[in-house]
Amino acid sequence: VHNSNVINAIKSWQNLLGLEYVVVEDTTIQNLETATFKTHQNITAILLPHNIDEIQACVKIANTNKVPLYPISTGHNWGYGSSVPPWANCALLDLSRLNQILDFNEDLAYVTLEPGVTQQQLFQFLQDQGSKLWMDATGSSPHCSIIGNTLERGFGHTPYGDHFAHSCGVEVILPNGDLIHTGFGRFANAHAAPVYRWGIGPYLDGLFSQSNLGIVTKMTLWLMPKPEYFQAFYFSIYETHQLNALIDGLRPLRLNGTLESAIHIGNDYKVLSSIRQYPWQEAAGQTPLPEATFKALKQNWQLGDWSGSGGIYGTRRQVAEARRLIRNNLKGTVNKLIFLDDVMLNFADQVAQSYQWLTKRNRLTSMLKLMRPVYGLMKGIPTETQIGSTYWRKKYPVPSSPDPDRDKCGLLWCAPIAPLTGQHARRLQEITYEVLAEHFEPMISFTLLSGRSLGCLITIAYDREVEGEDERAMSCYADLRDRLNNAGYYAYRKGIQSMGQEPLDSYSNVLHLIKKALDPASVLSPGRYIDEESSKINFKTLS
Ligand SMILES: Cc1cc2nc3c(=O)[nH]c(=O)nc-3n(C[C@H](O)[C@H](O)[C@H](O)COP(=O)(O)OP(=O)(O)OC[C@H]3O[C@@H](n4cnc5c(N)ncnc54)[C@H](O)[C@@H]3O)c2cc1C
Repeated sequence: VHNSNVINAIKSWQNLLGLEYVVVEDTTIQNLETATFKTHQNITAILLPHNIDEIQACVKIANTNKVPLYPISTGHNWGYGSSVPPWANCALLDLSRLNQILDFNEDLAYVTLEPGVTQQQLFQFLQDQGSKLWMDATGSSPHCSIIGNTLERGFGHTPYGDHFAHSCGVEVILPNGDLIHTGFGRFANAHAAPVYRWGIGPYLDGLFSQSNLGIVTKMTLWLMPKPEYFQAFYFSIYETHQLNALIDGLRPLRLNGTLESAIHIGNDYKVLSSIRQYPWQEAAGQTPLPEATFKALKQNWQLGDWSGSGGIYGTRRQVAEARRLIRNNLKGTVNKLIFLDDVMLNFADQVAQSYQWLTKRNRLTSMLKLMRPVYGLMKGIPTETQIGSTYWRKKYPVPSSPDPDRDKCGLLWCAPIAPLTGQHARRLQEITYEVLAEHFEPMISFTLLSGRSLGCLITIAYDREVEGEDERAMSCYADLRDRLNNAGYYAYRKGIQSMGQEPLDSYSNVLHLIKKALDPASVLSPGRYIDEESSKINFKTLS
């Protein structure tokens, strides 16, 4: 049942976009009200505009009727809320029909995109152009939006893995319907708009990432020149106490530029969940995974406690030198270390020889199945394979077109950031094991985001169809988040369930002032990253 404002707004949107592009039908709405964890927020309608004029008009209607809008690009923000808004009663503004690649420059290595452009689409485009440029891809679905991910400050696997750091020239529709261009894009004929990010004067781009201050309709992303030569390296350590030395051994290489891309290191639970689904039979139906079953599986797969991978990019000589430095730095630290290139990967026999010591021969095919997509990700090739891990606790095989929301896969991410030291990595690992181990397999991966910062991604994976699991998972998640915060570790990105947790301080006052100025009626993504409640506190430092 909608109030008259919502009914009026829907009528106006229907007049504007046509009935076909204003979805009010229950099943479709319910699908988009479903995340990978329990949510209660309803959606009033789904709007599917296909150009800027239509979006501006949609925003005006939202303001007139005081009905909030929640923009999504492709809405696959799995583990953080999917397409569900943090607050109820929003109309979804689905931007997936704006899916043009507007500009491409091979020499200057950039591309300008609309929000509906997916990873697969850009990848295919570059292939079709015969381009010598690589994009960066996340481990999420090829059908995810590049802009959606960039606005969340997501990351991938190549030297251009920090997506927001490689973006500029944003086109934004403000909550009052005005259109702005950031950087030099605001000036007529500004040649440098797609190549120089700062423009002149205050830099505004950051205001539109992880926020609710604008609807991004265009963005330029920089691409990476394909290196002359690429090698991947894979390593593992048998025991967790070796993690300190491993991280501390990799840091200098990341800091001095030998390692240009994010190195990913996963624990045994994380690796197992990407190789196979939950061993229901071996565990005799018990959860969490019994110690003995886990040990046997690890033995069978010859898995160390932690395994990792990274890419080396450059000329053959540069790669050879980097390889030497990596070997040197990790000597005595890792138990296994191998290097792989295209030729090796393409000749299964050679790979078999390199690998027989890494894994049992009969596991080789499965191991290669796991390694190939990760290898591809380091070259910016999107893959569907990683989504399979969201079916970890399902009792049926991963379907051919996976959809974690539809299939009620339970997934909550917790993503704290720490300084890049072994000691911090261990602390994160200890807290995670303490909080999760009773109910869920404590899956962790570490990412060397830069030479100084360590990203930690903790996965709570469960089956939403099991009675009580939604509640158990959320309570574990909340406990974990609080424990991490108390220990000084804060998330780089948040799910809709965690919005509005920041301290009410002078920083939140500034955000609130900006929000009030740009969106007085609070029609854009209310509650998203900027806390609406901060209006209640008094100004001390600013008034
Ligand atoms: C197995 C698996 C692996 C994953 N791997 C990664 C990974 O490697 N790296 C990573 O970063 N993430 C990863 N994810 C998380 C997530 O799926 C991706 O980040 C995904 O790209 C986000 O969904 P989307 O691209 O559809 O963005 P959307 O869901 O469309 O956007 C995300 C949010 O940004 C806001 N937004 C979107 N578009 C706009 C716009 N145009 N204007 C204003 N606001 C907007 C909205 O609030 C929206 O909810 C993974 C998920 C899974 C399940």
